[in-house]
Amino acid sequence: MMAPGMRLYVLDLGSIVLYPTCSMAARPCSAEYRIPVPAFLITHPAGNVLYDTGMDPSTIDDPVAAWGPLMDQLMPDMKPQDHIVKRLATIGFSPDDISYVVLSHLHSDHAGGICLFPDAEFIVQRAELETTMPDGANLFYPEPYRVARLDETLAECVRSVRLLDGDEDLFGDGRVVVVSTPGHAPGHQSLLVRLDHTGDVLIAGDAGSDSGQLEDMVIPGGTWRPDLLRHSIARLRDLREKSALIIYGHDPDLWPTLKHSPEYYD
Ligand SMILES: [Zn+2]
Repeated sequence: MMAPGMRLYVLDLGSIVLYPTCSMAARPCSAEYRIPVPAFLITHPAGNVLYDTGMDPSTIDDPVAAWGPLMDQLMPDMKPQDHIVKRLATIGFSPDDISYVVLSHLHSDHAGGICLFPDAEFIVQRAELETTMPDGANLFYPEPYRVARLDETLAECVRSVRLLDGDEDLFGDGRVVVVSTPGHAPGHQSLLVRLDHTGDVLIAGDAGSDSGQLEDMVIPGGTWRPDLLRHSIARLRDLREKSALIIYGHDPDLWPTLKHSPEYYD
């Protein structure tokens, strides 16, 4: 089935400076470095899809309140224009125009904006909501649901949540396919988008946060299950072979080479 008019927008939602002390950096490095925080808008005739929502907007004014215990490892940098609703507005979309939000996982730099899309259907892996995490790993999850995770917060601020147990072809036409890639987090999921001109675009999320993760099988600190992440990386490598473009989750070298919104891939 053709899906005319499909576009993929890469949204710039700020960045995070990782200090040399940062245990979850995907690059072993002795100096601090800055990683991008992206989200993606995919337009489809059957409904517009957002992949991730960036950091909690309170990060703009008070990163300490939003990121508390992680601030000794990193410094989030979110400016007013990095607010996802503003980014969407510059290309003519409002939250009402978003039918589906696919969350790669529920860490603070991906799930911080869920309450901005109360009418969208959220698409999350069941394992991401239901897996009990050790205290240390819970630090990656944003307040106020650090312990309870997002179950209650999702229920409070969004109307509809679809829980997946693996892959999902969102529209049944192979154009937007959720790919289960657990390991970084219990229910991590990547996204494969099939565009008419560009071809297949693989949005890796944090299962492939950096090119080195796929090239050298780098397993960053803070990984929930390294064995599952290795399996997911192998799967992403296979999919990359068939894709025209792979977009890593937080790759500072790839980032400037991408088309950013308001430009788009089609
Ligand atoms: Zn991330």
